[in-house]
Amino acid sequence: MSENKVRVRFAPSPTGPLHIGGVRTALFNYLFARQHGGELVFRIEDTDSNRFVPGAEEYIIESFRWLGIKFDEGVSFGGEYGPYRQSERRDIYRKYVDMLLEKGMAYVAFDTPEELEKKRSETANFQYDAHTRMQMTNSLTMTPEECNRRIADGQQYVVRFKVEPGQEVHVDDMIRGEVVIKSDIIDDKVLYKSADELPTYHLANIVDDHLMKISHVIRGEEWLPSAPLHVLLYRAFGWEDTMPKFAHLPLLLKPEGKGKLSKRDGDRLGFPVFPLEWHDPKTGDVSSGYRESGYFPEAVVNFLALLGWNPGTEQELFTLDELVSLFDITKCSKAGARFDYQKGIWFNHEYILRKSSEEIARLFAPIVANNGVDEPFERVLKVVEMMKDRVSFVKELWQLCSFFFIAPTEYDAKTVKKRWKADSAKVMGELAEVLEGIEDFSVEGQEHVVMAWVESKGYKLGDVMNAFRLTLVGEGKGPGMFDISAFLGKEETLRRMRRAIEVLK
Ligand code: GLU
Repeated sequence: MSENKVRVRFAPSPTGPLHIGGVRTALFNYLFARQHGGELVFRIEDTDSNRFVPGAEEYIIESFRWLGIKFDEGVSFGGEYGPYRQSERRDIYRKYVDMLLEKGMAYVAFDTPEELEKKRSETANFQYDAHTRMQMTNSLTMTPEECNRRIADGQQYVVRFKVEPGQEVHVDDMIRGEVVIKSDIIDDKVLYKSADELPTYHLANIVDDHLMKISHVIRGEEWLPSAPLHVLLYRAFGWEDTMPKFAHLPLLLKPEGKGKLSKRDGDRLGFPVFPLEWHDPKTGDVSSGYRESGYFPEAVVNFLALLGWNPGTEQELFTLDELVSLFDITKCSKAGARFDYQKGIWFNHEYILRKSSEEIARLFAPIVANNGVDEPFERVLKVVEMMKDRVSFVKELWQLCSFFFIAPTEYDAKTVKKRWKADSAKVMGELAEVLEGIEDFSVEGQEHVVMAWVESKGYKLGDVMNAFRLTLVGEGKGPGMFDISAFLGKEETLRRMRRAIEVLK
């Protein structure tokens, strides 16, 4: 394997269902890996045991399986850099914590939460750093014997990173360019906690990115503030030469455009913020998912790809392969991307149009069957061919199309009032007779005979067709009238007409 092979990772913490922003992050990592012939690693960052949620890991894996975003290695996929679950890498991290302690780049601190709280309430903007660390209870302010005695006594401690002030920290970001900050603003972050013998996110993340030979760190903007600390950690370990390049993706904003997108926005406006439906194991709450709401995975991927990136052309519809070749991480925007969920619905509609009627009919057929209708597939397919361009979701088809399969038993009052005239029963009776005499009951076969009859009678075409529609559909919707009657066939058409005349006369 060459040294500069592209290796990226998606490293969620299993603290609940994967937010749609996390899906976008994984997608951009995937596109970047694929277009560089690289590898995408799936790592589970579960070192914060308090926030662990059972089922979250499985949920995340299932989400990507559904979306067609494939990982090359990691939890559940295997690979030569495992284990890929951080909770299974305790010993590895301890070694690196000790390394920093030995180098004098980290120290042991015994301050209890109460002591820290007291300090914070006494000192405005208290920060545990070079200016304050010598007033605290840590290995820098006690003898090595004292420190060892406390540890031997079983006192809980943390290991803190010793951030040296007065240094310049450069974060080179593929999207944001170079950001320079002073190390003075960074506090002595906790890297390890004796209580659970686990590292914190910062240490585990850096160690793993290094050991797993990660070349690029592509993640959400919310991690940008951690980047300078991460650069300092690479420096402390002496890993600057292999430090990954960073790319912090733009935030996803509320549909209104201001503020960070949250689950509440989804609840408020009625759109999912999770890829799959999520059943909260603690509260029992159910949150909707894109899959269960009837979105196609390709539509979701296409929609997400354009949140914070665009190809610089008018093209909006892309296959995953097209995205792989066109995606350019350096062209991502710095500014947040508005989460226009209606655009997501539009994408689903476009994918319905692009998919064959057969494919849509296969999805619609079970819905038809579940409504107690026993129709051969070819009939369902015919309906789909007529109607699929009118919906954004397959499930919307039933509402729109049930009349093809089930004769109306009631007639919409409003439509009746508007469309059923004094002479409608008489005219429909005549039309029924005309139709009865037609041999070729195809659309064309009916059309010219009926048109000629309407003209010979001097009837208004609109009046005739509106009443005709009411008799077959029960209301004012549907495709072209002869499409409907041809689908129903002569016998059913006449049956519906006679019944309507009977009821409405
Ligand atoms: N575990 C972090 C998360 O949940 C990973 C952040 C990163 O990619 O460095 O997003």
